[in-house]
Amino acid sequence: MIIILKQGAEPTEVEALQSIIRSRGLVYQPIESEGQSMLGLAGDLSGISEDDFLRSSCVERIVRVKEAYKLAGRKFHPADSVFEICGRKIGGGNFAVIAGPCSVESEEQILSVARDVKAAGAQFLRGGAFKPRTSPYAFTGLGLDGLELLKLAREKTGLPIVTEIMSAEHLAEFEADVDVVQIGARNMQNFSLLRQVGGLNKPVLLKRGLSSTLDELLLAAEHVMAGGTREVMLCERGIRTFETATRNTLDLSAVPVLKQRTHLPVIIDPSHATGYWHLVEPMALAAAACGADGLIIEVHNHPEAALCDGAQSVTPQVFRRIMIRVAKVRAAVAE
Ligand code: PEP
Ligand code: MN
Repeated sequence: MIIILKQGAEPTEVEALQSIIRSRGLVYQPIESEGQSMLGLAGDLSGISEDDFLRSSCVERIVRVKEAYKLAGRKFHPADSVFEICGRKIGGGNFAVIAGPCSVESEEQILSVARDVKAAGAQFLRGGAFKPRTSPYAFTGLGLDGLELLKLAREKTGLPIVTEIMSAEHLAEFEADVDVVQIGARNMQNFSLLRQVGGLNKPVLLKRGLSSTLDELLLAAEHVMAGGTREVMLCERGIRTFETATRNTLDLSAVPVLKQRTHLPVIIDPSHATGYWHLVEPMALAAAACGADGLIIEVHNHPEAALCDGAQSVTPQVFRRIMIRVAKVRAAVAE
């Protein structure tokens, strides 16, 4: 549903209308197009009638639309979203790189990697404190101690931290301490977690499920946005196919397809997509060439001794080279 506002509507009338919308349990997205102000409504519209809003004197008319992703889609938000997160821009031509180890393992490890990725030009530090592992006997992360080490690394380097939330029981800690909340592939359709994380009003990095379609990814983003936040970054991290030569199959065509359908930034994870460190560089370059807004790359100071995902982790030296070559590719394809 789109509410088209009268030209020159009084701001106080519009605010009163917005509070009526909220009181019906709906969310709205302000839209400005060709001098016309509108509000795009999302939520459960099944019991809502146009009359509920037509009484407001600032409303010119109401249009019902069938659009699956009202908040994430381009229809109500034609321009690329640009998020400014801790002074770093992403989206709309601004490219950002998130780098760091798969898991936070020790103070020495996270500080060393954080310093190295910062020196190479990364804008954000990644590192898992709560790790989703296929086997219950594998290393599942340092938990809240890992979060403390990430905070220390942020303090020492100034890099904002990106880390995965696995359960709503840690919402308060993530709200207090984390700059970008990651929702991992395995939780992409944990709808209650999506909505609760959206309610933190923090930037979110939403990873595509192992066997999820792009439509499902966009609807998952819609769940997060319906929770409150507008800052959702979508991450293609490889999908499961019949191919076994790589850990997953990187669906690079997801970049132009998503960019057609959504205004949200699209990030590529060549580490989980390929599973092998030597494939990370070529696929990072390909991602930069096809219009991705950023990369998330696993970097480890001793990949051979990593507690998780060592085979796909690049060394700081390789990461430096990737950063230099990605910049060259971006310059080459710039219009
Ligand atoms: C990760 O980024 O550490 C991770 C577990 O990735 P994914 O959820 O994409 O498997
Ligand atoms: Mn990993």
